Amino acid sequence: MNRKIIDCRDFPDETGCTLMISGTTKEVINIAIRHAIEDHGHKDTAELRKQIKNMIKEENSQKKRIR
Ligand SMILES: [Zn+2]
Repeated sequence: MNRKIIDCRDFPDETGCTLMISGTTKEVINIAIRHAIEDHGHKDTAELRKQIKNMIKEENSQKKRIR
């Protein structure tokens, strides 16, 4: 099974965070919500959860071939 990723750079704010979270959809969402609240000062709202779900990408689409 491919892992899903959330890249904090897709969600720019004043922290300039570059964290990338990868795992199953459920893992990624749980960690991303905790991270958004603790490190970015967001409120745990339905809107935040929706935004985080929209940020999820396939891990493979992220790979850059350097050849
Ligand atoms: Zn972040």
